[in-house]
Amino acid sequence: MLRQPRKILIASHMNPDGDAIGSALALYGYLTAKGHTVSVMIPDPDPSFLWWMPFHDKLMVYQREADRCLEAIRSAELFFAVDFNTLGRLSTAEEPLRSSSATRILIDHHTLPDAAFSLKISYEDISSTSEIIYDFIDASGDREMISREIAECIYAGIVTDTGSFSYSCNHVRTYEILADLFRRGIDGEHIHRLIYDNYSEHRMRLLGYSINEKLVVLGEFHAAYISLTLGELERFRHQVGDTEDIVNFALSVGGVNLAALFYEREDGIVKVSLRSKGNFAVNGIAREYFNGGGHVNAAGANSTRSLSETVATFLDLLPRYRDQLKDVY
Ligand code: 5GP
Ligand code: MN
Repeated sequence: MLRQPRKILIASHMNPDGDAIGSALALYGYLTAKGHTVSVMIPDPDPSFLWWMPFHDKLMVYQREADRCLEAIRSAELFFAVDFNTLGRLSTAEEPLRSSSATRILIDHHTLPDAAFSLKISYEDISSTSEIIYDFIDASGDREMISREIAECIYAGIVTDTGSFSYSCNHVRTYEILADLFRRGIDGEHIHRLIYDNYSEHRMRLLGYSINEKLVVLGEFHAAYISLTLGELERFRHQVGDTEDIVNFALSVGGVNLAALFYEREDGIVKVSLRSKGNFAVNGIAREYFNGGGHVNAAGANSTRSLSETVATFLDLLPRYRDQLKDVY
């Protein structure tokens, strides 16, 4: 399929995170170096702490430049979907991509991929899609084509999807890949600073407010949650990505095995983020109660119900999981 030069479109999911951008740009760097004509697209803008990434200037945002994206969709022979597995996560870009005749290839690590793909490279046990991109290049016999730029993108995806190596990273293979990325010249400490030590003052104060004023700990259920109205976010002049790790602080409380963040978006949708410790799975909960999905310990959803109704749904489900939430290991 990739033996001759192709017109290729790479797309990742809405609300893009470090792995969405890292895997898309690493694949972009590789396929471009192989001589293909490649476009890369996300549905809505990514947070500013990812803008340093190599090839980032190639990234098209459907919400901002639909015409350029539609042209790339029209001319693509191959379509790579990275870091998501259901076309619904393309938001408003879903319909044009559905009607494209390009062969659809999935590279991802979420459970239950859609039937919409002709080829699925999907491993749910792997830390990140970026790690799978490394394996994809390696398995294609092209490991030596992994430049420092491509290595930086892969590293950024692994570091963000494992919460700086704190979950989904109990595999020797991940560290072997990381060692090879360092051999290719990446500066891990510098990348860490670019991603994590780059908060705006407003973002830091929103985090402080969320923990101090909005965190609700439900000791009886080993659960905690934070909910934020649009008005509260506006008070802290929120930017894309400012809410990203708030939920993890709720989970950091000892004895809390399930944490949730709910916040209102400008389009009226309520964003749900769920996190858990150990063997308590949140992806099933995200799917069943909020029409979302994700991984065992990190899942999310977009709720069309109001903020208070969404929180009420969460509070209602807790008694059903009381025993499981007590015995997490
Ligand atoms: P986050 O809470 O950081 O937005 O997302 C955590 C995980 O859940 C990510 O792996 C993400 O891909 C997945 N996720 C987030 N939102 C949705 C959603 O609306 N639908 C599905 N299927 N998965 C989601
Ligand atoms: Mn991922």
